[in-house]
Amino acid sequence: MQTLLINGKWVAPVAGEAIDVINPCNAEVYDTIGRGRAEDIDLAVAAAQGALDGAWGKLTAAERGRIMLKFGQKILDNAEELAQIEALDTGKPITVARNDIVAVARYFEYYGGAADKVHGQTIPYMNGYNVSVVRVPHGVTAHIIPWNYPAQMFGRTIAPAIAMGNACVLKPSEDACMSVIRLVQLGQEAGLPAGALNLVTGYGHEAGAALTAHTGINFATFTGSPEVGVMVQEATARNHVPCVLELGGKSPQIVFDDVDMDKAVPVIVKAITQNAGQTCSAGSRLLVQEGIYEEFVGRVAAAFAKVKVGTPEMDFDCGPIVNRKQFVRVSGFIAEAVASGVPVLAQGQLAEGVSADGYFVAPTLFGAVPRDHKLACKEVFGPVLSAMSFTDEEDAVRLANATEYGLVSGIWTENGSRQSRMAQRMISGQVFINCYGAGGGVELPFGGMKKSGHGREKGFVALEEMSTTKTVVQYFG
Ligand code: NAD
Repeated sequence: MQTLLINGKWVAPVAGEAIDVINPCNAEVYDTIGRGRAEDIDLAVAAAQGALDGAWGKLTAAERGRIMLKFGQKILDNAEELAQIEALDTGKPITVARNDIVAVARYFEYYGGAADKVHGQTIPYMNGYNVSVVRVPHGVTAHIIPWNYPAQMFGRTIAPAIAMGNACVLKPSEDACMSVIRLVQLGQEAGLPAGALNLVTGYGHEAGAALTAHTGINFATFTGSPEVGVMVQEATARNHVPCVLELGGKSPQIVFDDVDMDKAVPVIVKAITQNAGQTCSAGSRLLVQEGIYEEFVGRVAAAFAKVKVGTPEMDFDCGPIVNRKQFVRVSGFIAEAVASGVPVLAQGQLAEGVSADGYFVAPTLFGAVPRDHKLACKEVFGPVLSAMSFTDEEDAVRLANATEYGLVSGIWTENGSRQSRMAQRMISGQVFINCYGAGGGVELPFGGMKKSGHGREKGFVALEEMSTTKTVVQYFG
């Protein structure tokens, strides 16, 4: 229950309430976390402000960077323990969890190394003036992250914020945050001063809503559903607090008739089955040029039928859905599509021996999905791929850009000019050509257009998002 870190001390929530932690592989409760509420958020925000006014605010950029590099090393030193925690909490295959932990360490290496390399500008102005533009932290930053990649999301949002000298209050998902708790402990061990990073576990409508509406925060980042994204934006707007929103997608894989099928098929299958499809940048729409539609989709179906779903220890291609609510939602999408007559072309296999109480869903490939069907437009956030055909480049662009989302696009063609034309016309924050990264590495700026959100994470651009500028004008004439 002492899962809240406030001003360097692990505490239980003021109200003393707990939330059960459930194993998605068998629906059994295996632990509890504290149910933080508004009063805990008040304490955390005050602690963050205290850190800015105290030891944390006085550190140089190089000193912050050094702590972050130590933090990254501690993550690597404790990688196996962290991976086991992550796998148990989310159900993901242990190999995937191990990769996730290495990715978290990369965030601290990358932004730790960058902390003292963010330069300002000087501006030529009138005679007798020195003008400099310096980058300064926002101050107290609020961070709300989801359950699909708890550890990676922690690195993605916290590392650039700390690098720029902000003091953070983090509200992870009530559905999966055990690795985050351990990561925050490692941050303390690495030398983060009290109050620089505060953690409040709890529900979104309680702790999360209290955090985003708090008058003491100066900036917020949120990753999760579009509906809650709107609430976060409304709450922060009331205090004129800027926010970065990452709200998911319905990303297309666009396959032209000159595709290298052997290369494309495994990447396309992995891009939707990875993490059981619970990836904001999952390639969830398969758009194939009509001349090769039957052959290409047939090959994808053959690969799909071999996808295996199991527990973390079985270490197959994917695990269960993270919680009961999402399980019901994803299963509902599949059942509704079947009932409306959309053909199922292939389904993956649940491994023998998985619990009937677990939230396992067979990955499903639907074919000839009508363009206006829910399956073609709405985010499922599960291992469901919707195939449809297009005629030519113009039709491909229209179809690819036809949803309300704009997160990632995948383009598959050997024609170089077409690659460039298509990349230019995609309305999405990332475009992959003859590859697909589902978010890609820490180096690559990431974020959405349209209802996928706004603002950017990852890459150097995240350091700009996590800071603001101050223009200093000095007269010496
Ligand atoms: P959610 O948006 O409800 O939760 C995400 C985070 O927001 C959690 O930490 C939650 O506690 C918090 N939250 C919830 N209500 C809040 C509020 N009023 N104020 C502040 N914070 C609040 O997402 P979910 O219910 O876990 O999943 C629902 C759908 O969201 C999924 O089916 C999927 O489509 C989408 N989703 C997207 C991503 C992504 O990476 N973009 C991640 C998770 C879920």
